[in-house]
Amino acid sequence: MQSLSWQEQLAQAIRKPTDLLEFAGLEADSIGYSQQAIRQFPVRVPYAFANRIKKNDPNDPILRQVFPYKAEEDKATGFINDPLAELNVQPVNGLLQKYNSRVLSITTGACAVHCRYCFRRHYPYQESSSSSEHWQASLDHIKNDSSIEEVILSGGDPLTLSDRRLQEICLSLKNIIHIKRIRFHTRLPIVLPARITTTLLKQITDNDKSIIFVIHTNHANET
Ligand code: SF4
Repeated sequence: MQSLSWQEQLAQAIRKPTDLLEFAGLEADSIGYSQQAIRQFPVRVPYAFANRIKKNDPNDPILRQVFPYKAEEDKATGFINDPLAELNVQPVNGLLQKYNSRVLSITTGACAVHCRYCFRRHYPYQESSSSSEHWQASLDHIKNDSSIEEVILSGGDPLTLSDRRLQEICLSLKNIIHIKRIRFHTRLPIVLPARITTTLLKQITDNDKSIIFVIHTNHANET
């Protein structure tokens, strides 16, 4: 698996709950899973991450993040689809601004892993993202507001984008004098380490801005 490219590893990710259970050494009958949950949010787990699941343990902390347990069907009082009210803070499509100095771009809806707890699980990526066709509007907003010093590239996971697309985004921000920092909010160094290539790092660091990786990890067993 280590010799496969990150794209090949992503293509081979586990996509069925039964395959995930089998990989974890567990019986489907003894656990059960929610069909409704996987219709809403399909299973996706790269083997690089699945390899960290301890075998024969239905309560393994890695498995619990990615397996669609029946409990997902439980109703929770006060549950809403947009818990951070992100749809109310978008000056343009897919660009979130909660603070004067900082914006967050929804660069893509794609992720390498589907975390069952994700707070953007119901986010309308189709209508509201800064994907390439909407990026210019985000860029114009950033250019026109000199109070913005920091751009967070989020999603989805920005590192699921191609090297070329990430380079385009970074270069387009390079020319904006008031931008000081570009932050990548990503889970890929944990769930798909092969994504971090020399080429990627070279392309995104060809920039006078500070390039910062904010790595999303939840449990000591993930590393
Ligand atoms: S990687 Fe992040 S955005 Fe993607 S499903 Fe997990 S928590 Fe959500």
